Amino acid sequence: MAHTEAARLLAVWEEGLSGAAADRALTLHRAARPDTGPGELPRVPVGEREADLYAFRRALFGDRMQVLTECAACAEVMEFDLDAGELAARPARPREPLRVTADGWEIDFRLPAVADIEAAARHGLPAPDDGAAAAGDALLAACVVTARRDGEEIPAERLPALLPGTVRAKLAEAAEQADPAAEITLDIACPECGVTTPAELDIASYLWTELDAWARDVLLDVHLLASAYGWSEPEILALSPTRRRYYLELCADV
Ligand SMILES: [Zn+2]
Repeated sequence: MAHTEAARLLAVWEEGLSGAAADRALTLHRAARPDTGPGELPRVPVGEREADLYAFRRALFGDRMQVLTECAACAEVMEFDLDAGELAARPARPREPLRVTADGWEIDFRLPAVADIEAAARHGLPAPDDGAAAAGDALLAACVVTARRDGEEIPAERLPALLPGTVRAKLAEAAEQADPAAEITLDIACPECGVTTPAELDIASYLWTELDAWARDVLLDVHLLASAYGWSEPEILALSPTRRRYYLELCADV
């Protein structure tokens, strides 16, 4: 990590510390995309946000991500690696609404954005983390631009009651194909019992945990060096990590 970034990242951490998990994700996204207007970020499709966060993670802490998950059958703790670089490619955003035609229905919809998921959560609707079924349900209904049944326009609020399961499934499938990065699930085989567990990674909370640990380490360094040498926080943050470590070793030797 470039040491000039340290002060900015500490400010991001401080802002995230006082917020809820959803606010933290937005705080991290804002830090990852400082050139995008803050009002625009909640309208970014979920997969694009995830890719931005993977790219940010890569820039801060490198490609290799170690993830722990628990076997669904025997509760064995399993460890696997993810490559942030592979997941950092931003998916192409469709210019036009997506269209699904099935069983007499013709539905134009846009990809769910971060704000749609938050709105769905506020209305007590399931978040997409609960699986593809939920994503195909209320959330997608919120993203419908126009819906027609046998040529007659159906208002979006009537869709949850009217839309057949087969069409919902097609909507979920089309959304997943258009935004595959929105939900990355890996099947991890348990080395103990052989059962495969689907593992999802919440990059926002993963990155937050890392940033939190990093920030606490840096503050401890600042505390130790300020106590030993009387330097100010900006002076200590301006040191390269190598020099900072070297001075810390010298302090420990005394
Ligand atoms: Zn197992």
